[in-house]
Amino acid sequence: MKGTMLRSVQASLRRGPNASSSPSSFRLLCRDYSSESAPNRKVAVLGAAGGIGQPLALLMKLNPLVSNLALYDIAGTPGVAADVGHINTRSQVAGYMGEDQLAQALEGSDVVIIPAGVPRKPGMTRDDLFNINAGIVKSLCTAIAKYCPNALVNMISNPVNSTVPIAAEIFKKAGTYDEKKLFGVTTLDVVRAKTFYAGKANVPVAGVNVPVVGGHAGITILPLFSQATPEANNLSDEDIKALTKRTQDGGTEVVEAKAGKGSATLSMAYAGAIFADACLKGLNGVPDVVECSFVQSSITELPFFASKVKLGKNGVEEIMGLGLLSDYEKQGLESLKPELKASIEKGIKYANQS
Ligand code: NAD
Repeated sequence: MKGTMLRSVQASLRRGPNASSSPSSFRLLCRDYSSESAPNRKVAVLGAAGGIGQPLALLMKLNPLVSNLALYDIAGTPGVAADVGHINTRSQVAGYMGEDQLAQALEGSDVVIIPAGVPRKPGMTRDDLFNINAGIVKSLCTAIAKYCPNALVNMISNPVNSTVPIAAEIFKKAGTYDEKKLFGVTTLDVVRAKTFYAGKANVPVAGVNVPVVGGHAGITILPLFSQATPEANNLSDEDIKALTKRTQDGGTEVVEAKAGKGSATLSMAYAGAIFADACLKGLNGVPDVVECSFVQSSITELPFFASKVKLGKNGVEEIMGLGLLSDYEKQGLESLKPELKASIEKGIKYANQS
């Protein structure tokens, strides 16, 4: 039995491009392995008692690539850690609460996931969260620069289009910035695009891939359905427009359905776990691990941009180009640039003036 499980882990470690985003590899990730073959890896979740943080803590506890799981929040983490810590999987779990325990939570981390901050309420844009979340991200990144400057940082806190540039500026000021190690988590846009495309094209969702590029807010989210696989010949231009809009507004769909009780948490935790798993696989030397992410980039004139990224032992190994775009996507790309540029500049300005 143990041998079979180990073979499954090894098979999952050998998987090819985009392997980490397929539901089947996620099933592998959730089994109860004794993964002697995987190196020790510490993952810290900052904001671990929140709506995203709790299910994300659960999913990271199920990941056999994690040996230590540090759960940090300003309140509530002892309970979450005690609860999650009873699950009989590989990782040791520890809860840390309040700023004086942040150093301990971060020290030795290989990957730091940040879902700390306030979520949207109906009628709010991601940018409306800027003032509160920018301050939280700034203080957490200052601590990361001090206590685990080599960790891969997975930024979930919104507005990602601004919080990633804020983090970059904070790390630059501290002299620790490595553009290969900072990621805006846009995986939920990919997850949504795959689900909506599979539904409309009537194809099994497990085999679907859709790159999503640009940024992570409204029209800056640009799904490239012309590159979706498997190819669907049954979709009209109107269908593609509707799918694009639904992907761009996916977050708002959830915010409205939750009617004041927050934004996407469960699907976000899933997406965050998929992306962190890809980072861990990259660190462990698994070849051809590819996910979309909002990173420092030169594939357009904008300093940060989301596109397909190959993950390796040092974080970003290669930023892949946009590939061939349809006319509709070319238009979308041009229209998103001013908004994305402004959000990036807002983040940079905030980090340098406050
Ligand atoms: P939530 O309010 O349920 O949880 C946030 C948690 O952060 C709380 O437990 C809070 O105590 C904690 N927190 C606040 N300040 C902190 C600090 N200084 N240090 C550590 N923890 C701190 O919110 P949520 O629904 O979990 O959403 C969290 C963030 O994720 C929001 O910014 C939201 O907009 C964002 N989000 C991003 C995506 C994405 O696709 N990237 C999707 C959904 C939500």
